[in-house]
Amino acid sequence: MDYGLDQKSVLVTAASRGLGFACAKMYASLGAKVTIASRSEQALDEAAQAIEDETGKRINAVRMDVNRPDDIARVVAAAEEFGNGLDILICNAGGPPKGSFMQLEDSTWYQAFEQNLMSVVRLTRAAVQHLQRSTCGRIVNITSSSIKQPISGLVLSNTMRAGVWGLTKTLSEELAPYGILVNTVGPGRILTDRVREVDEATAARTGMALSEVQQRELERIPLGRYGTPEEFAKAVVFLGSPFNTYITGTALMVDGGMVKAL
Ligand code: NAD
Repeated sequence: MDYGLDQKSVLVTAASRGLGFACAKMYASLGAKVTIASRSEQALDEAAQAIEDETGKRINAVRMDVNRPDDIARVVAAAEEFGNGLDILICNAGGPPKGSFMQLEDSTWYQAFEQNLMSVVRLTRAAVQHLQRSTCGRIVNITSSSIKQPISGLVLSNTMRAGVWGLTKTLSEELAPYGILVNTVGPGRILTDRVREVDEATAARTGMALSEVQQRELERIPLGRYGTPEEFAKAVVFLGSPFNTYITGTALMVDGGMVKAL
């Protein structure tokens, strides 16, 4: 299967580990010129090295915090320069803190707004001039299964990611005249370091064994297991490639059947 990614220029944010890292690695393995961005320089350099070792492709690693508008402008310019243009933008960021409505202060709401909604607005605004010049402009926003079925105790994720889904749908219409396809992919339970840490924290808090915590999660997933970051990346890379020519404004869940919404 040829995804048409050879020499395409791709920017993946929040890619030093987890879902972003898996997407960046898959793009590189399919021949793309990949820029990865994240906050920690050391983690970023290690991630770039790991991808280079595995794929033989040179990776452009740029330090950035998605909460900082200047960083966003800088990283998009760096991706454009490295890739001699920009064809594909994958918007990812760390998740917002958990918590229920009555627990959260305005400051936490604003932080989540900046990190999980405004980062997508700003990245898209900075990238769109370059994507317009591409013959295959694609944007994929990484959200959550919460856009289809809100998750208890995660009011910030439920709210901000629904905003990203609304933005995705709107952009799919507004950017269609430029041939730019815009979609979102929602992870259910994909086994990244973050998910492992969350399960460990739940076990510590409740006194349950880690295996019990995980078993409780697995009972909600028809396929009976967590997904792998690679399984998630397959969906992102498909939607965010020239191989996808007619799917835009869609939310694709990678969740082993967990979401019950139609
Ligand atoms: P992760 O914590 O393993 O990785 C997050 C990455 O984001 C890291 O590289 C980190 O350095 C980077 N990052 C965090 N804050 C940043 C910032 N301000 N600026 C730049 N980079 C930043 O998380 P993950 O499991 O890979 O999840 C990725 C996203 O998907 C998160 O928003 C998460 O909430 C969401 N999500 C994941 C799952 C899942 O099953 N893994 C489920 C639902 C939603």
